[in-house]
Amino acid sequence: MPFSSLSEIKTRLDAGETSAVEVAKSYLDRIAAHNNTLNAFVHIDPEHVLAQAEASDKYRSKHEARPLEGLPIAVKDIFCTQDGPTQCCSNILKDFHAPYDAHVITKLKEAGAVLVGKTNMDEFAMGSSTETSAFGPCRNPWNTDTIPGGSSGGSASAVAAALTPAALGTDTGGSIRQPASLCGITGLKPTYGRVSRRGIIAFASSLDQAGPMTRTVKDSAMITAAISGHDSADATSVTDAPGISSLNEWLAACDKTDMKGLKIGRPKEYFVDGMDDAVRTTVEAALKQCEELGAEIVDISLPHTKYAVAVYYVIAPSEASANLSRYDGVRFGHRCDNPEDLLDMYTRSRDEGFGSEVKRRILTGAFALSSGYYDAYYLKAQQVRTLIQQDFIKAFEQVDIIATPTSPVTAFKLGEKTDDPLTMYLSDIFTIAVNLAGLPGLSQPCGFADNMPVGLQWIAPAWQEDTLLGAASAYESATDWTAKTPEAFGGGAT
Ligand code: GLN
Repeated sequence: MPFSSLSEIKTRLDAGETSAVEVAKSYLDRIAAHNNTLNAFVHIDPEHVLAQAEASDKYRSKHEARPLEGLPIAVKDIFCTQDGPTQCCSNILKDFHAPYDAHVITKLKEAGAVLVGKTNMDEFAMGSSTETSAFGPCRNPWNTDTIPGGSSGGSASAVAAALTPAALGTDTGGSIRQPASLCGITGLKPTYGRVSRRGIIAFASSLDQAGPMTRTVKDSAMITAAISGHDSADATSVTDAPGISSLNEWLAACDKTDMKGLKIGRPKEYFVDGMDDAVRTTVEAALKQCEELGAEIVDISLPHTKYAVAVYYVIAPSEASANLSRYDGVRFGHRCDNPEDLLDMYTRSRDEGFGSEVKRRILTGAFALSSGYYDAYYLKAQQVRTLIQQDFIKAFEQVDIIATPTSPVTAFKLGEKTDDPLTMYLSDIFTIAVNLAGLPGLSQPCGFADNMPVGLQWIAPAWQEDTLLGAASAYESATDWTAKTPEAFGGGAT
């Protein structure tokens, strides 16, 4: 049971073999047993979880079960929820209670999900290891000396250790896909604009997008179907998103068992020197298997890839510096004691509230946006972003989908990169371009290197999540990587 997928739990609930309350209890027990080791959850209210599960069982007994009825889903601490605190794992938002639910939270509730609690993350989603959290680092269940990836590391760790069957994350430069890869689970970043950002604490508004972190491809489809859709309160959510929209269409996209006729692009810039050889070999083997399933592998080039990290680390901090200016000690969260005057209150509140990575981003961003530098940095970065987008548009004239490693390395040791931000920034070298281009991307487990999970990343044209899900489910059905679970947490061996 603990390592069941959402759809397996749903089948058992539908058949009357278990109840939402029993399911919720079994995960609450696992959280109680393992969260001390993993630090995957930063807030849990068992009574509230059970109350939701009881309400859900009532819906089911009235034959009014909704698509996610009774299914436990955890959410990253970046999503505003009326229940419990929303702290973005930052001291500046310590004990902040949001006055409303994020749009995706409302959608999950309407679909009948049982919200399990808030998961650990890098402060304000800035990081690749969940070590910048104000609540302490989270650990990877495959080896608790290693990081789970970030910034949605708590969600990834919780799903991988079966403390919850599924979770929501957010992805600004890779924060769903990279931790999914490092923890051996599936993570989907939808096309920018498919999911409303309202009530998701903003990091970089032109890049942020929420998505599911699950055991299986189908589970990711179920959740994305529930959280997608126009929201009149978010101008960046698209009115009539092209492509699949109904739950049945999302599920049908996961029915593929072969890749006949599928042209997969293999970009040479994503198989480079400097990446872990064992990761490269594992992903190459996965691509071989795709060929055996009927796909044609086409060598392609995305020539502006080499600029992606630099472009991202101008655009994301610039937008962050504007978004984080609201934390001034007046409107939200922390205020310093006994300020001498207004300026002292602003500066000391921010100095005490923000951690060093967040400060670094604010400083870089404010510098890049300042007069005299705007053209040289922010504007230039936006221009190169367009070139990166055009690389993908050209590539998709040749191929249906692109496959790459999700991360150049497997999970690294805690503390290994904390003193070296530039090395940490390179963790997202294979995921960032997807956000810059607004495309959908999915990471799924494709093997192990030195006993740690390796992720395969799929990238599709905008709005073609069905292509992503099709390729990923065909690969999943031909392999058994999703069934591998960490032994130390009661799972099977690798
Ligand atoms: N690791 C990247 C960063 O630190 C991406 C984070 C994210 O996607 N939220 O900015």
